Amino acid sequence: MSVSTAPFTATVLGSARIGPNRELKKAIEAYWSGRLERPGLAAVAAQLRADTWSRQRSAGLDSIPVGTFSLYDHVLDTAFMLGAVPERVAGIPNHLDRYFAAARGTASVAPLEMTKWFDTNYHYLVPEIGPDTVFRLDATRLLAEVAQAHTLGVPARPVVLGPITFLKSSKPVDGQGPLLDRVDELVPLYVSLLGRLRDAGASWVQIDEPALVTDLDDTDLDAVTVVYQRLGEVRHRPAILVASYFGQLGPALPRLARTAIDGIAVDLASGSADSLTDVPELADKLVVAGIVDGRNIWRNDLEQSLTTLIGLRNTAATVAVSTSCSLLHVPYTVVAETRLDKSLRCWLAFGAEKEREVVTLATALSDGRDAVADALASSRTAAAVRRGDPRLRNAQVRADLGAVGHHRGRSTPAAERRGVQQARLGLPVLPTTTIGSYPQTSRIRIARADLRAGRIEQAEYVHRMRAEIDDVIALQEELGLDVLVHGEPERNDMVQYFAEQLDGFFATDNGWVQSYGTRCVRPPILYGDVTRNSPMTVDWITYAQSQSANPVKGMLTGPVTILAWSFVRDDQPLADTADQVALAIRQETIDLENAGVDIIQVDEPALRELLPLRAADKDAYLEWSIGAFRLATSGVRDDTQIHTHLCYSEFGEVIDAIARLDADVTSIEAARSHMEILTDLDAAGFDLGVGPGVYDIHSPRVPSVEEIASLLRKALIAVPAERLWINPDCGLKTRGPGEVKESLANMVAAAKAVRAEI
Ligand code: GLN
Ligand code: ZN
Repeated sequence: MSVSTAPFTATVLGSARIGPNRELKKAIEAYWSGRLERPGLAAVAAQLRADTWSRQRSAGLDSIPVGTFSLYDHVLDTAFMLGAVPERVAGIPNHLDRYFAAARGTASVAPLEMTKWFDTNYHYLVPEIGPDTVFRLDATRLLAEVAQAHTLGVPARPVVLGPITFLKSSKPVDGQGPLLDRVDELVPLYVSLLGRLRDAGASWVQIDEPALVTDLDDTDLDAVTVVYQRLGEVRHRPAILVASYFGQLGPALPRLARTAIDGIAVDLASGSADSLTDVPELADKLVVAGIVDGRNIWRNDLEQSLTTLIGLRNTAATVAVSTSCSLLHVPYTVVAETRLDKSLRCWLAFGAEKEREVVTLATALSDGRDAVADALASSRTAAAVRRGDPRLRNAQVRADLGAVGHHRGRSTPAAERRGVQQARLGLPVLPTTTIGSYPQTSRIRIARADLRAGRIEQAEYVHRMRAEIDDVIALQEELGLDVLVHGEPERNDMVQYFAEQLDGFFATDNGWVQSYGTRCVRPPILYGDVTRNSPMTVDWITYAQSQSANPVKGMLTGPVTILAWSFVRDDQPLADTADQVALAIRQETIDLENAGVDIIQVDEPALRELLPLRAADKDAYLEWSIGAFRLATSGVRDDTQIHTHLCYSEFGEVIDAIARLDADVTSIEAARSHMEILTDLDAAGFDLGVGPGVYDIHSPRVPSVEEIASLLRKALIAVPAERLWINPDCGLKTRGPGEVKESLANMVAAAKAVRAEI
């Protein structure tokens, strides 16, 4: 085989890249706006990598992932590495600009589609592969990072996305057949990559195959065997670690174990180690045990982990300790949170703390418990403190749920509700609306910062936000939109805004996690029972409504999305936590209704995201998630119109679920997929109001009137006019005011043109 591949003992599967203070985001955005040149951006990127590696080395990791850094997205990096670059950007001369064009589009070029990375809130760019795509290896980026690591003396383990996951995550275009058929073309590229990495001095390489934790058919499983047998047989190569994460390998495990690879990383945070025991082939492999949860932020129960790890030593030749997945999904360090109370602080572990947990466990495994006695004791104490915290149980919310928890549906059928609602609202056919947010201008950010820093009083803040609302209302009236929104200026984020007002949540100051490209979110920590003490949105919405004769939508985030975009307590079933959040939202809808608001939108963009990766788990998930949404939205009268909004996903698998939400109107992402969703909804017998997004808000491109009108005509083939709404794909907060105005003007013009045709 290969080299002297002494197995390592402690590692993580990948690292966060955005920077502890979002340095990368700032540098990339500066580059986009022309304030920073290419070498400046490269220097920031190199420094961030060096800082990460150096922290990981001092923590004691003896193998460090290199290549998980990215200027936008690791799937896009892989597409560029394998030559799967769309023709429409190929002509852009500079490599970096070509890369960013594929990611975000330009004035003349549409970007790649973006979708969720498995069941996380990270979005990747979907590579397009057509019959004309000629795969070609370009390992420049990876080799440069490996070289940088070697210069710094880092024990580097290059990481690449594997061919099976790459193809399964891509989209066939131009009549391309099943993508996995093309895996044979990729294998030689990986073979030569292995040689190049070996030449560069790598002793191990990590090939990520998270797709292997999803349901695979026999063709897929055969591909696993063929690909990894072939790569395992390569003579001139580093030792190969195939990494799985986000779930259990199931039938893919014995397949992988029987090939000539050297190690397998398994996710032990999402399931038990039992399945490993009946795979005898593991006896000559390195098992990288992902026992420290890479996706949630609770401190590890070290004792329990140690027991699992010791058991595992009977199964595998060698056991290394790791996180269950890349640390891309958690913030950098708990140390940056200065407002945390002492109790809560000791329950938490972010990236840096998890790296130390990994090392502690690896040390215990090699040197015995005594070597880490202090760490074990402190982990035990933390668990006890957490269990005893009174905030974990609130008798009132539990009693309230007992009382209304069975109300999970509106009493009148949707078609009848449509009648009373239309009588109240009097909207034109094909009503136009937007999804909620308007551009978050620098004025808004300044006001928020001023308030936080104590430079202005709450009253002045409210005054400034109302001025923003005035502007957004005036703009919408000028544009001629039918159903208005207040623009969400007071919301830093659609989940955090609510988390800050609900008991049971802690909103971090610095817990940034990359969502896509340069966009980061700060998922709040849902640690205890959730309760609402007072209305959260009513003042803003009623103020906005007072400024216009058109209806203004109340705007809430749904329980599933609040859960999906938070770090959620792991000491009770998700379903129970979802119901508590749903109850709080339900109370808010009732307050909005009593305040005279006649349309309430409850956003659930993450409904699809939490869908389990395995078919066997799906029904149970849909049961509780739909149940929570219905609990949240069924407290209102028939003539109050409930809207929901879904986006960022392939909805194929949840079409029935969308109908079961029973929202009067569903606005849904559709522009990038050219309204395909409507045909699916129609086939599923969906008969509620629907607003398929008519243009993509992720790109700065302004859609033309004709382009929108033709999408609308297409939509009208699948949906009768009385159920069709017109809106963009999603909220407008990340867009510039100029683009927004032009795009919406074109949308309203298209609506008028098409109305005239029906
Ligand atoms: N109402 C939210 C907004 O417009 C919805 C955002 C989302 O779907 N992600 O910003
Ligand atoms: Zn959206």
